Amino acid sequence: MTCPKCGGEMETGIIQGGQMLIWTPKKHKISMHPRNDGKDIVLDKNFLAGAAVEAFCCRKCDFIMIPVCKENNYE
Ligand SMILES: [Zn+2]
Repeated sequence: MTCPKCGGEMETGIIQGGQMLIWTPKKHKISMHPRNDGKDIVLDKNFLAGAAVEAFCCRKCDFIMIPVCKENNYE
């Protein structure tokens, strides 16, 4: 993957968290479950082993990019 900021090669890695990872336009204060307004994006959910997503890192720019899995969204 090419870094969109500097054009360098990005490293592939994993971002791992608790039971669910989401992207949200507004920070959740209590629950990490996505709001039902269609704006939150579920990056992954795994209630047994913990959520994890593949991500690309450019160490030169300190920039991380995460592809969205359509299986978790846009139903
Ligand atoms: Zn870069």
